[in-house]
Amino acid sequence: MMETVRKIIHIDMDCFYAAVEMRENPALVGKAVAVGGSTQRGVLSTCNYEARKFGLHSAMPVSQALKRCPNLVLLPVNMPLYKAVSAQIHGIFRRYTQRIEPLSLDEAYLDVTDCTCCSGSATWIASEIRQAIWEELHLTASAGVAPLKFLAKIASEQHKPNGLFVIRPEEVKAFLQHLPLKKIPGVGKVTAEKLQRLGLHYCADIHGLDPYWLMQQFGKFGQRLWDFSHGIDPREVESNRPRKSLAVENTLPHNIDDFAHAEAIVHQQYQQLTQRLANTGTLPLHAFKKLSIKLKFADFTQTTLERTVEGLTLEHFLYLLTQIWQRRQGRSVRLIGLSVQLPEKSQHNTPLKQLNLWE
Ligand SMILES: [Mg+2]
Repeated sequence: MMETVRKIIHIDMDCFYAAVEMRENPALVGKAVAVGGSTQRGVLSTCNYEARKFGLHSAMPVSQALKRCPNLVLLPVNMPLYKAVSAQIHGIFRRYTQRIEPLSLDEAYLDVTDCTCCSGSATWIASEIRQAIWEELHLTASAGVAPLKFLAKIASEQHKPNGLFVIRPEEVKAFLQHLPLKKIPGVGKVTAEKLQRLGLHYCADIHGLDPYWLMQQFGKFGQRLWDFSHGIDPREVESNRPRKSLAVENTLPHNIDDFAHAEAIVHQQYQQLTQRLANTGTLPLHAFKKLSIKLKFADFTQTTLERTVEGLTLEHFLYLLTQIWQRRQGRSVRLIGLSVQLPEKSQHNTPLKQLNLWE
């Protein structure tokens, strides 16, 4: 069977929230700008390149960011605005393909294999998209072009910001030879350190290794490491991928140690969660079987506990809270989150409204 070589573009907007804010208020240009938690307790969502010069990055606590960069302009998150701009960006994507898989408001995969514009050149299409985003929306995007999803994502990082990087099918093998394993999506700090300890630094180091040995070392992810290192990534660009879960989480105004306090917060969050579920459709609460609870501690480590239960109830969440509370080991809690997995559509006669990113 002839395999079609796919043409995948990964588009990633450059410091999106901050860039939108700078566009709305040109007086911010040249200043260190971050968008994020409205209080000292929150974390940064995004910061611009001026702020990054001070070592700021997303997920950094606001208090720490302000210490490093006292002149930082810190703006509240204006989600309705970012969603509106994101919808405009998707409008530009749709001129070229309907096969769009958003990863977040500012990042998406596009499959342009069947697109006939630009003589079918994915590189040319990516250039036109970047140009349209700049001319029409006054924002910059970085793009990666490759025959595989994970490579397209890595490529969009290569010449960031405002850059384009292309990995042609015939270049994949050579590119992988020198690709550091830590660049593979999904390799976090812990995995990277373990790879280092094992003397594995580049994809080339994986070549010739037994995939089962890798799986013993890294679990299921070991298989992915082996596949990616060998240029194997059959994942399709999935448009209209339905949202899989709904979550409510809050960074607390103060760290807490008191269980009764945590119970009261879970109680509130449960009300919010069921309210949001009610907005998504007509499924009864007992149709939701997978619940999870998350705690983030004062030292910023976090833990999640997931359970399959007979339906969504406050009691189940409170029970999960008693369980996860034991992992505290004396640490104060700074964030609590509840989430519920949405059932597959096919199991129910009354379908859930498909939630997309803009809801
Ligand atoms: Mg981005």
